[in-house]
Amino acid sequence: MDFSVSKRMQTILGMIKEFVQKELIPLEPEFLTKSFSEMLPVLEEKRQMVRQMELWAPLHPKEYGGMELSLLESALVFEALGGTPLGLYTFGCQAPDAGNIEILYQFGTAEQKEKYLRPLIEGKIRSCFSMTEVDLPGSNPVMMDTAAVKDGDDYVINGHKWYTSAADGAEIAIVMAVTSPDAGPYLQASMIIVPTDTSGFNLVRNIPVMGHAGEGYFSHAEILYQNCRVPQKNLLGPEGHGFVIAQERLGPGRIHHCMRWIGICNRAFDLMCARARDRIIAPDRKLASKQIIQSWIAECAADIQAARLMVLHAAWMIETVGKKEARKEISLIKFVVANTMQKVIDRALQVHGGLGMTDDTILAFFYRHERAARIYDGADEVHKVSVAKRILKDYEGKKVR
Ligand SMILES: Cc1cc2nc3c(=O)[nH]c(=O)nc-3n(C[C@H](O)[C@H](O)[C@H](O)COP(=O)(O)OP(=O)(O)OC[C@H]3O[C@@H](n4cnc5c(N)ncnc54)[C@H](O)[C@@H]3O)c2cc1C
Repeated sequence: MDFSVSKRMQTILGMIKEFVQKELIPLEPEFLTKSFSEMLPVLEEKRQMVRQMELWAPLHPKEYGGMELSLLESALVFEALGGTPLGLYTFGCQAPDAGNIEILYQFGTAEQKEKYLRPLIEGKIRSCFSMTEVDLPGSNPVMMDTAAVKDGDDYVINGHKWYTSAADGAEIAIVMAVTSPDAGPYLQASMIIVPTDTSGFNLVRNIPVMGHAGEGYFSHAEILYQNCRVPQKNLLGPEGHGFVIAQERLGPGRIHHCMRWIGICNRAFDLMCARARDRIIAPDRKLASKQIIQSWIAECAADIQAARLMVLHAAWMIETVGKKEARKEISLIKFVVANTMQKVIDRALQVHGGLGMTDDTILAFFYRHERAARIYDGADEVHKVSVAKRILKDYEGKKVR
């Protein structure tokens, strides 16, 4: 295994870390009190600075103006940007656009690429991904009610989705809908591009999540598709291949999620250590002098390092032996890193006492918003069951002494 970082990447990471410290973290108090639309002008200013530094769109293809970093390189960028909620957006690699860009690049027609992919990569428009339904289990998405029925040259879509992240203000939704109800379960659904100004695309509400409905990019919408008519040329990839395409981006997407979470762990850990170092708890005592706090610090340091190495190892596996061979590693990191992050944020918050519960640090924001990491992109239990089945398969008929 080789996780060495080239000189060029060291320079890039240094520039990103400095930018996060100088330009983004100072914006957080404003971010925590203002709406997304109020923040947009200053975020656009920062995005412009990133473009001038030639650090825009680290994941995306060079032919569209991105940096096209390798998986291991982009993993390190996500770690560097993850420590602030403003990082990914400011550098043009935020979810769900990053995933949508990847599948549009791989499966989009020339017309779809010019119309949607280019402005998405340039950061001129936003997108969302609409799969999970209100009344059916997201953990088993082949159970899907949303249907796209052919009518003349169009698809007519009807269905009730929710948790479509960042739909508010997005130009397009990539919608999963059943197009081939008679096919096998994994070949029934297709991905269809739906411009959000199409009649019948009805954004019901931004769902309140942990007390905040949010707005714009930082929100999750409930959407009713009611006789929503789009041309059949808006089909993304082959008909019935929605799940096949979704599977395609699973590996790299997982690495990026997990390294962003490692970035959050690093930030929470820094805050925890600095608070323990400075907080006076008796006239001649700092919080850091208490063994229980020292134990938390040591445990968190070990947990973060273990989780980080697991993700880098999974990225290395994907790059060297491919996604299919790395399936176990890709499943393992999802629940390990999500739980590590939750533990580290919780400990950091506890060390801050009452201050941790306020929005005077970023910890409460992380605590509210990152709990979902154990649910989206496959709940903990689903990954554990699937990874255990894969492991147990290797033991079938195997003699163990
Ligand atoms: C913040 C956030 C953002 C999201 N963004 C998007 C988005 O942009 N687009 C989109 O389409 N969806 C999105 N989702 C939805 C997400 O993908 C689903 O919530 C997730 O797949 C779980 O589905 P569910 O909520 O229907 O839970 P269910 O499927 O009802 O599962 C509930 C619980 O049951 C347990 N469980 C389920 N299956 C099993 C099993 N096989 N074995 C053991 N236990 C099991 C797990 O504990 C699970 O948490 C988002 C969700 C959140 C919270």
